[in-house]
Amino acid sequence: MDSADFFENLKENKLIGVQCNVCGELSAEIRYYCSACQSGDLSEKQFTGKGKLSTFTCISIVPTRMAEEGFGRDKPYCSGIVTLEEGPRISARILNVDASNPEDIETGQDLELDVQLRDSERPILAFKYLD
Ligand SMILES: [Zn+2]
Repeated sequence: MDSADFFENLKENKLIGVQCNVCGELSAEIRYYCSACQSGDLSEKQFTGKGKLSTFTCISIVPTRMAEEGFGRDKPYCSGIVTLEEGPRISARILNVDASNPEDIETGQDLELDVQLRDSERPILAFKYLD
């Protein structure tokens, strides 16, 4: 599996990473070698898409790509680290939050995979904040 497959899976709202056949280490990102034992003996692993918000940051100084989506000083967006139900952590956009009021966003909150398909070539890994 390569990164093209990773994004194809995301388009179907499936988060598929890898699991090491030697030590069992999981990764929600594409790797060719295990980050724990360096083995290249990896299998695909589908994650449930459920997780919790570990940390986040609300960003108002945005890259061009985000500005094109309408984000900016008056409309910040939220980016976070999600700890998946299965354990691995992954960086993703956090949806269904008011990034103008970060004090209302709580770490530990349940999240659910909600891939955004604005650009069909490269879907955006995102999680929905569940109230
Ligand atoms: Zn390993």
